[in-house]
Amino acid sequence: MSELHKFLFDGLPVRGVLVRLTDAWTEVLRRRASNSTAGAYPLPVRDMLGEMTAAAALMQANIKFDGALVLQIFGHGPVKLAVVEVQSDLALRATATLNGAVAADASMSSMVNESNQGRCAITLDPKTKFPGQQAYQGVVPLFDDAGHAIEKLSEVLEHYMLQSEQLDTTLVLAADDKVAAGLLIQRLPMAGSGNLAGSMVSKENEDQIGLDEHYNRIAILASSLKREELLTLDVETILRRLFWEESISRFEPLVGESAPRFACTCSRERVGRMIVGLGAQEAESIIAERGDIEVACEFCSKQYHFDPVDTAQLFIDPLQRVESGKDAH
Ligand SMILES: [Zn+2]
Repeated sequence: MSELHKFLFDGLPVRGVLVRLTDAWTEVLRRRASNSTAGAYPLPVRDMLGEMTAAAALMQANIKFDGALVLQIFGHGPVKLAVVEVQSDLALRATATLNGAVAADASMSSMVNESNQGRCAITLDPKTKFPGQQAYQGVVPLFDDAGHAIEKLSEVLEHYMLQSEQLDTTLVLAADDKVAAGLLIQRLPMAGSGNLAGSMVSKENEDQIGLDEHYNRIAILASSLKREELLTLDVETILRRLFWEESISRFEPLVGESAPRFACTCSRERVGRMIVGLGAQEAESIIAERGDIEVACEFCSKQYHFDPVDTAQLFIDPLQRVESGKDAH
């Protein structure tokens, strides 16, 4: 079962989060494989999306925020878009959209960052917004200060957190067909609680970048964690192997019902709104060509079916358009 563990290094300005997504991750993959049009992900895409999913769960667990954290890669290459959305209660969903063939040994940059034009975005979308409030979004490129393409998602996100929060962060991420896992180690903010959006950023945080010897020591230990270890070892073994000389305080682990889990927020109403967005003419032409409109949710592969009568109703009375409940699973 999926699990998430938070811990503090006693007396030191360093905190950590370790996540292992098992059922939550395999459900993402199973849903995708059940979509006969899109089909299962090529392995490099699967692993990148798994790392993104683990990272998004770590970041959501590491901030105090009521709403959705959305981690996106706007790709320039055969992967057009990769999206992970994690709610405050750690319900999550993920998907990637391809527009070309992906080589079996494709690197991250060859998938999403041809000619350095790919971007990584983190959006914090509050559950309740006051009128006119926008979601916060921060964007970082997929190349380093010298203009070289970055091949590890963890480095992209470490860079993001240094920029947005002025906080040193170490991430180790890994994914395969059974597990998406990650370890986050972060220097605690001198002021504020750290919120990814940078509004609590203080000069003190910035002045401490790279200088805390305790953080630096623990970061080196964390970085020694191998992909294979992260994927195969249980949480207790990982923490013991890495930090056996450190004194750690553990929080109550998030397991069972409070653990990260797959959940999709799609609905017939939203799909109906999307069809209305196409316009009556476009909807009618699809009906004329195929007899009805079939839409599969890209996150969970649920099929939504609108026959000619349903479709006509969408455009007649937008308030009553989705009551017929004809969803097929
Ligand atoms: Zn869905």
